[in-house]
Amino acid sequence: GSIMGSGGMVVLDETTCMVDVAKYFLSFTQEESCGKCVPCRLGTRQMLEILTRITQGEGREEYIDTLLTIAKTVKECSLCGLGQTCPNPVLTTLQYFRDEYEAHIREKKCPAAVCDALMISPCQHTCPVGINVPKYVAQIADGEYLEAVNTIRERNPFPAICGRICHHPCEGRCRRGELDESVAIRALKRFAADWYFDHISELPALEPFPQIHSQKVAVVGAGPTGLSCAYFLAQMGYPATVFEALPIGGGMLSVAIPDFRLPREVIEKEIDHIARRGVEIKYDTPVNVNFTIEDIRNSGFEAVFIAAGAQRSQNIGIPGELEDIEGFYYGLRFLRDVKVGKAIQIGRRVAVIGGGNVALDSSRTALRLGAEHVSIFYRRSREEMPITEVEYDETLAEGVQVDFLVSPTRLVSDDWKVTGLQCVHMKLGEPDASGRRRPIPIPGSEFFAPADNVIAAVGQAPDLTFLPADSALERTRWERLAVDENRLVTNVPGVFAGGDFVSGPGMVIEAIAAGRRGAIAIDKYLRGDTSRVEIYDLKPSIIEETITKEEEASWEPRFRPEIPHLPIQERKGSFKEIELGFSEEEARQEAKRCLRCDLEK
Ligand SMILES: Cc1cc2nc3c(=O)[nH]c(=O)nc-3n(C[C@H](O)[C@H](O)[C@H](O)COP(=O)(O)OP(=O)(O)OC[C@H]3O[C@@H](n4cnc5c(N)ncnc54)[C@H](O)[C@@H]3O)c2cc1C
Ligand code: SF4
Ligand code: SF4
Repeated sequence: GSIMGSGGMVVLDETTCMVDVAKYFLSFTQEESCGKCVPCRLGTRQMLEILTRITQGEGREEYIDTLLTIAKTVKECSLCGLGQTCPNPVLTTLQYFRDEYEAHIREKKCPAAVCDALMISPCQHTCPVGINVPKYVAQIADGEYLEAVNTIRERNPFPAICGRICHHPCEGRCRRGELDESVAIRALKRFAADWYFDHISELPALEPFPQIHSQKVAVVGAGPTGLSCAYFLAQMGYPATVFEALPIGGGMLSVAIPDFRLPREVIEKEIDHIARRGVEIKYDTPVNVNFTIEDIRNSGFEAVFIAAGAQRSQNIGIPGELEDIEGFYYGLRFLRDVKVGKAIQIGRRVAVIGGGNVALDSSRTALRLGAEHVSIFYRRSREEMPITEVEYDETLAEGVQVDFLVSPTRLVSDDWKVTGLQCVHMKLGEPDASGRRRPIPIPGSEFFAPADNVIAAVGQAPDLTFLPADSALERTRWERLAVDENRLVTNVPGVFAGGDFVSGPGMVIEAIAAGRRGAIAIDKYLRGDTSRVEIYDLKPSIIEETITKEEEASWEPRFRPEIPHLPIQERKGSFKEIELGFSEEEARQEAKRCLRCDLEK
């Protein structure tokens, strides 16, 4: 957003809290108010008090309407220009950023990680599962690696996986970044998790969590959402059983993400850990018309959490797009076939359509299978690509060409064999419903891109066909299950749903967060507690630890060590993991760069 005033223009980005901005302007105008007219004198004070409560986690649902009423009254009834304009920051932030107010009030979350009272540290607050980052980072600095992994597992049963592929929003808000460079939170997580699995034989044997409740809970789908939900239910003492359609767990992590980013054995170890903590996983057990949600409920499960992911590849919707054409694949199918070792014929030239993880992973996989020239065609620009900087840079470094603002218009084939793509150049127009600028074709810019293979990776959607047509579960008009955003409960009491199955394709840490939210909601349901699910940790009133001299020394400017990678020339034809992780020395040095924002008063 931006604010235009008499003296200039203030441009704000996602690191600015809009509730805090409104509070800042009001505290100024409230002081300036001469007090002659009542609406301005009392109205500014009341608005400031409400905004302060919201930023301190004491907001109530009705505050937004109260703010609107006071702001309009002050604007209309004040005598001078100050009173008539001072509500504007409140009115405009409410008009354009109402969701930020709602996040503060409903979830006690400050999306910009600015409001101190709502958080322990910006990194912890921005991590979707609220891992106590400063604590585990300090434990690594002190050489307490087992303790560090245990801290992570309090909120996330997949430390080795997230240590590799999490899109790490926490690092984007790390305060160390304001000094030199953010702390390598993700890579430190990987270091601790890898240390754990390397030393597991020397550590005490794992015991299942003690069962303290008798109510059984079922989970559909052993992806990160379902397994996290079951893990946290087991942690709370519930017997949890996961029904998985495939012979393996992990969902997209196992069947789609290539081994060079996430090796299979890493996933297996994490799932084994979850099973050892007491989660029962029944493989090869699809839920379908022969084994329905109702059947599960009738067999003694008091609650069910559906976490079936987004399994359906979306069509591009262009002429010539026929699945039987030789050389044409949908990205998910292509990645799955490669993962299960199916023989795939890849030609010299490969065209990939899309701009997300599936497109990038498909392009890098095609290179490894022997393609000489791989191009990604994406209809928007780099800014709109939902992938991390590292993934993008690595894709380019491996030799993939990315053509932005290009859209396919026809899949061209000859005798049922792909010969290429007819494309058109695009320009960006006005923002669409998603807030991203809509791409518009440029007339007369059509061109032909020859290709031996075309891989379509334009998105996935949840597949609800396993639910009987007459299922009582309510759907949205986008063919997804309708759930309450806070408690993830469907219209059928006792049936919950979350993860990619509800939100559509997202990120793994969001899936884990949905699983955790589901577990908390199910626990509340089984205990008859109808209150909202609270996910975020507020700042404690007493902070016991103090900052030591050694920690103060770490405030000297110092950049993070480079994370080692497999050299490019060793990647051709190989699915060996490419990110290699920190050494012990590097990890401890890096951990000492943390400023311990959690200890700030
Ligand atoms: C190629 C690719 C690359 C990705 N890269 C990243 C990345 O780098 N970083 C990141 O953060 N995220 C990434 N993601 C996203 C991440 O993998 C997903 O967000 C996450 O896996 C979603 O978890 P989920 O459990 O909701 O669904 P899924 O992982 O899809 O798991 C759903 C599970 O439910 C099972 N199931 C479905 N129907 C039934 C049924 N009827 N009965 C029983 N079981 C059923 C499925 O077999 C599956 O095991 C990537 C995704 C893909 C496809
Ligand atoms: S799980 Fe991801 S978001 Fe959370 S602390 Fe780790 S890297 Fe950051
Ligand atoms: S400096 Fe440390 S505590 Fe502060 S945000 Fe970064 S990782 Fe978190």
